[in-house]
Amino acid sequence: MAHPKTERTLVIVKPDGIQRALIGEIMQRYERTGLKLVALKMLVPTESMIEAHYLLDSNWKKNVGGKAIASYMKKGETPPSSDPIEVANLVVARLKKYMTSGPVIAMVWEGAHAVELVRKITGGTEPRSAGIGTIRGDFVLDSYQMADSDDRAIRNLIHASGTIPEAEMEIPHWFTHGEVVNYHVPHEAILYDVDMKNILG
Ligand code: ADP
Ligand code: MG
Repeated sequence: MAHPKTERTLVIVKPDGIQRALIGEIMQRYERTGLKLVALKMLVPTESMIEAHYLLDSNWKKNVGGKAIASYMKKGETPPSSDPIEVANLVVARLKKYMTSGPVIAMVWEGAHAVELVRKITGGTEPRSAGIGTIRGDFVLDSYQMADSDDRAIRNLIHASGTIPEAEMEIPHWFTHGEVVNYHVPHEAILYDVDMKNILG
């Protein structure tokens, strides 16, 4: 098994994140944990890139629809449809519009538990219910309810890979092999070396 410190995850600052001038804030939150930025680019995605990105995982439709329906039920509200796939198809169409509305920044972060840590720092899909202290919880206020009544995607500033297999499919979708850089930073010695024997010389 590869050492956990080599785990990588994809993050995308979505168009609203750039418009809200949150690029630095977002990157700082990942960087300060010790995770290392190994790839970065700004681009305006095409609709086909976005559709392909969200359909990389064959279970995504079922999950995204299920999550939306569960959120409505929890609040005692009625979802727009009781069929998760129907909800997901709506979401894909909305995401194509949202994610192509302006530039995004795609990046790859590397380090121990990168996927899980980045999701924890990012927070849950719906900013309304995302935890306090998470990026989505702290910096934006959108909800399933508002997104549905305006027929648009939930604006939640960031995409972050949900699982290691998802990250492994998503990274090559956004970056060529050569665009992801292998390099070291000195603090890796403190994070990962078995004994910290170089401190006292
Ligand atoms: P996450 O980004 O937290 O992994 P998902 O993969 O489930 O969430 O969904 C992808 C993106 O689609 C979300 O970040 C959000 O922008 C949008 N989205 C998800 N569900 C809905 C919904 N029911 N209505 C509108 N937009 C949605
Ligand atoms: Mg997801």
